Amino acid sequence: MLDRHKPLWGKPPQLKKSYDAVIIGGGLHGLATAYFLARHHGMQNIAILEKRYIGFGGAGRNTAIVRANQRTQANVPLYKEALDLWPVLTKELDYNLMFFNCGNLNLLHSEAAVSAARMAIASAQFQGVESHLIDAKTCKEMMPALNIAEDITYPIFGAMYHPPGGIVRHDAVVWGLAKGAAKYGCHIHQQTEVTGINVENGKVVSVDTDRGTLNTPRVLLSAGGYSAAISYHMLGIKLPISVLNIQAMVTQPLKPILNHVISSGAYHAYANQTLKGEIATGAHMDAWPNYTTQTTAYYIRHQAQAITEMLPCLKGVKFMRHWSGLADMTPDMAPIMDGNNLIEGYFMNCGWGYFGFKSCTATGKYMAQFMATGECPDILKPFHLGRYAQHRLMGETAALVTYTADN
Ligand SMILES: Cc1cc2nc3c(=O)[nH]c(=O)nc-3n(C[C@H](O)[C@H](O)[C@H](O)COP(=O)(O)OP(=O)(O)OC[C@H]3O[C@@H](n4cnc5c(N)ncnc54)[C@H](O)[C@@H]3O)c2cc1C
Repeated sequence: MLDRHKPLWGKPPQLKKSYDAVIIGGGLHGLATAYFLARHHGMQNIAILEKRYIGFGGAGRNTAIVRANQRTQANVPLYKEALDLWPVLTKELDYNLMFFNCGNLNLLHSEAAVSAARMAIASAQFQGVESHLIDAKTCKEMMPALNIAEDITYPIFGAMYHPPGGIVRHDAVVWGLAKGAAKYGCHIHQQTEVTGINVENGKVVSVDTDRGTLNTPRVLLSAGGYSAAISYHMLGIKLPISVLNIQAMVTQPLKPILNHVISSGAYHAYANQTLKGEIATGAHMDAWPNYTTQTTAYYIRHQAQAITEMLPCLKGVKFMRHWSGLADMTPDMAPIMDGNNLIEGYFMNCGWGYFGFKSCTATGKYMAQFMATGECPDILKPFHLGRYAQHRLMGETAALVTYTADN
């Protein structure tokens, strides 16, 4: 167990009686929002409350894939800015986030997938995001390990190639943002669980924790897979979120063979090679909602079969670690970012599903602006909760036709 009196960042903070803002969850979005609140808006009296340790949620479990070629016009600009921010933050935080700009290949295995990719590419290009269609022969030239034979389960017709994407070291992002937030005076309280949110006359006034009550006029809900339960049990606000378990694993370290991120909807698998040499691979999601973080033997077999059909040179390579984490999925595969309308001072940033690593830099920046000024920035407006009641879903599920397995 971590000792809550010995935090990893800065001097051990004492829990104060009141804060200008309280952030629920020491994950990607909570840490990024705190950092930008302090750096861009001068709000430094902030508490980040984390029930376990920073990075305990999806932040420390994701497979580190970043890209900007989302499907809809509302989503692409946010992801584009998030991608552009990795090198900027590496400098600003003085912490190497290890952005490896290797590009992403979304493999296509049917004419229908190629047609869907054409639409996704057009959307991306329209917003100035580089994305191209390439044929199977070009895929092979770019990645000699790839199997483009026609007698495999899902022969490769081509790929959607997105050069600006790649991978970023996920734990470095957690530690870098925590370092940045702590440097500006934010308090990171690990092993501090929020147990209640108190509202008086329609305004947030305090939060209850297992270490006492903290007064605050602003709360951000950024608790990843736990957000929907917190929202419902503490405030009675139902969010259209299903919580599913996603699994991932890594092989033993190998010499460089995967020079791009690959993903395949048909095989329902994706893979990238970490800077350490491991092949990180994932995609499986339990088909039923659950809050477990259990792994399954079924998935190991599925992944071994899928990956070795696409990359036969991996036959015989050992999986070394296998883990899973929660994904907070919305019906339109787009997040909920909202605030100040249901309850004054109550902000939400959740429903990220399996896209919340790649987006956290830009959303942290804009959620911070929203919380500091009370005005929702234009780029976040399409993500309001009310869209579900108005039947105006975002259509980001269309991305699944092409990506399906992609993070
Ligand atoms: C296996 C896997 C692979 C993935 N791969 C990718 C990928 O390649 N690319 C990508 O973009 N995304 C990926 N994701 C998704 C991504 O990790 C999440 O979308 C992201 O972590 C969400 O960030 P967050 O800050 O909202 O939540 P989290 O990072 O989950 O943080 C939430 C935090 O809130 C804390 N918390 C919960 N309840 C309380 C409470 N009551 N009090 C205090 N603290 C609380 C939790 O302990 C947790 O630390 C993947 C996810 C998984 C599980």
